[in-house]
Amino acid sequence: MKKTRNPNTLTLKESRAIIKSNIREMKRLEQIKRQKATPDQFTTVMKNPENVLEIDNLQTCFFTDNGVVRSVNGISFEVPKDSIVGLVGESGCGKSVTSLSIMQLVQAPQGQVVGGEIRFNSGDLGVDEEGNTRCYNVVRMPTADMCRIRGKDISMIFQEPMTSLNPVFTVGYQIEEVYLLHTPDATKEDARKKAIEMLTLVGIPMPETIVDYYPHQLSGGMRQRVMIAIALTGNPKLIIADEPTTALDVTIQSQILNLLKKVQKECGASIMLITHDLGVVAEMADYVVVMYAGKIVEKGTVYEIFDNPMHPYTVGIQKAKPSLDSNASSELYSIPGNVPNPINIPDECLFKGRCNRRCGKCTGTYPKEIKITETHSVFCHLYDEEKGGE
Ligand code: SF4
Repeated sequence: MKKTRNPNTLTLKESRAIIKSNIREMKRLEQIKRQKATPDQFTTVMKNPENVLEIDNLQTCFFTDNGVVRSVNGISFEVPKDSIVGLVGESGCGKSVTSLSIMQLVQAPQGQVVGGEIRFNSGDLGVDEEGNTRCYNVVRMPTADMCRIRGKDISMIFQEPMTSLNPVFTVGYQIEEVYLLHTPDATKEDARKKAIEMLTLVGIPMPETIVDYYPHQLSGGMRQRVMIAIALTGNPKLIIADEPTTALDVTIQSQILNLLKKVQKECGASIMLITHDLGVVAEMADYVVVMYAGKIVEKGTVYEIFDNPMHPYTVGIQKAKPSLDSNASSELYSIPGNVPNPINIPDECLFKGRCNRRCGKCTGTYPKEIKITETHSVFCHLYDEEKGGE
């Protein structure tokens, strides 16, 4: 009997060809990174000076032995000053890879930002001859220059504080380290004072004592407060909070969210909040960006996304959220089907296989961005540009 080939497996020849081409591409990209970039090459101008971050057609790939995984596949969005932008989507949709790309923390050489711009407005580069606000293009920044702004102007709160804090150093030492690194004339005494001040700011009781505690001596909520204190030490313009409440229980979650809101107001920083919890987004965010399979499917203000969701995926995830009014005996809704294989994904609507509103137009290329209002846009063939609606 003739053997039929499993389409999900690779032959040895195909596998070798992929590895060879990956190595070639990774070497090329690493070589570009090693070239000494001058400030002119890694600074640019903001499209809107009222934004702190502008992401333009960002593409981040992972070169695996099975093929190229386009984790972030051409996304564009902005984070305005003094605002909270929620990035939502299911696991594996590219939210965390987006944040790692902004921090230049994508695991190289397999992970590479292969295209696009990340414009960060640090506020200290002034304006050019035409009056445009100058900013950094993080994608082109050399590591040494990135180290100057990472942890100071852009900081990050990670998901799991127990694994993010170093278990062999006291929490005070870990706050002091950030302060000493970014404040050239600071003494050790200044750093200790700063550590106590930051612990007080995030609501840790007895900060003079806790400053000498090791992470394992603190509860989960306190450890997350310490992570927030570390993120705030450099007085950042942008804080990236990557699922900051996922590892915490519900009551602590609400305390941490309130604390984040409070520090955002007091410090005047913007927050990019990454989460898969729609309740958290509704509570916290001013703007929402919905991602699916490495692409943005819809973005808008929190009211536009929650009151008038337009993309079938946004509608689906809202329907899947359990509510107190739902009948206890009825089954919870879930979007049927699975996320497509991320390797070598085609240029078409990636939600096609799971969409209950699929139509003839959906077989074409990936839908263009359709502006519904100045702030609300959707990527779906159901809506066309002329009508700005269905
Ligand atoms: S483009 Fe078509 S398949 Fe894709 S989400 Fe819109 S209606 Fe559904």
